[in-house]
Amino acid sequence: MWQVIGQTRAVSLLQRSLEAGSLAHAYLFIGPAHVGKMTLALNLAQALNCETAEPPCGQCASCQKIAATKHADVQIIGLSSNEASAEAKLRVEISIDQIRQVQHSANLPPFEGRYKVFIIDGAELLSIEAANCLLKTLEEPVGKVIFILLATNERLLPATVVSRCQRVELLPMPVNEVETALNRNWGVESKKAELLAKLSRGHLGWAVSATTDDGLLQQRTEWLNRLHDIINADCEERFAYAAQLAAQFSQNRGLVQERLDLWLGWWRDLLLVKVGSTGDITNIDRLDTFSDMTRSYSLAQIRAFIHSIQAAGDQLRQNASPRLVLEVLMLSIPEVEKHSEEKSTVNLR
Ligand SMILES: [Zn+2]
Repeated sequence: MWQVIGQTRAVSLLQRSLEAGSLAHAYLFIGPAHVGKMTLALNLAQALNCETAEPPCGQCASCQKIAATKHADVQIIGLSSNEASAEAKLRVEISIDQIRQVQHSANLPPFEGRYKVFIIDGAELLSIEAANCLLKTLEEPVGKVIFILLATNERLLPATVVSRCQRVELLPMPVNEVETALNRNWGVESKKAELLAKLSRGHLGWAVSATTDDGLLQQRTEWLNRLHDIINADCEERFAYAAQLAAQFSQNRGLVQERLDLWLGWWRDLLLVKVGSTGDITNIDRLDTFSDMTRSYSLAQIRAFIHSIQAAGDQLRQNASPRLVLEVLMLSIPEVEKHSEEKSTVNLR
């Protein structure tokens, strides 16, 4: 039984190759964060080393060791390695030394299983030297050695590396399937399962983490509250917020993009409530806020601001000045239409 949920196409491709004995020497699993790339990679490693007639069984000693990442022949290479050295903690890319160790290990026969499997987590973080070193290994495949590269964006990888790998794409699941999986496989009660599934946008791994890590939902609450405050804040406070985000951007781009995505989701929900499609909103626990807010903004205002958030996201990705982009975004926050209700009353008369 493959444990990965909702990736039928990828699983059947790998299953067919296993049965036909036509596995590639290197795979590239491409997909957004938390979509199931690592789970699928560990599943493939299990399938290759399982001791039963129906691999991956998930039960035998080999499968269990691999699931616990304690199998001697299945190695995970990435930024968060087990090394405790100060150098390892400061690492921002996968170094050539890490890949040299892989090369050395790949030349030794399997220690306890049938196949050696090297999983490179976050392959886009390979330094140029490390990628070139890996390329040599991929060009001269050794029997019983499989490489699995995990990446969210293949354009950040050298084309020479990509061309040596069989590409397997993992897509987000339909939200209702995430909800069912949370309910059935993780015993999450239905209301919470619905909220987490919607917030996950089909990334099951995120939803599963959020069932045990309250911090994820807490952070979302804090961010949403802050965004709500900013909508009602004066210009000075908005600019201070833009400066704060811009400073964060230089240290952690992903975190700022995540906030913009959250904001985008918020205004999209407001638009949906405004046009009466309440059932389609993502932030279902904030429905009351949206219902209150719809009276303050016209449809055109909401649409225009959604475009502004999208444009800000695009500009940040294209390396525009974060301070400038975020300040312009703050200036685009729509003004509350104080008279919208009066106007509609007048119109009715
Ligand atoms: Zn097994």
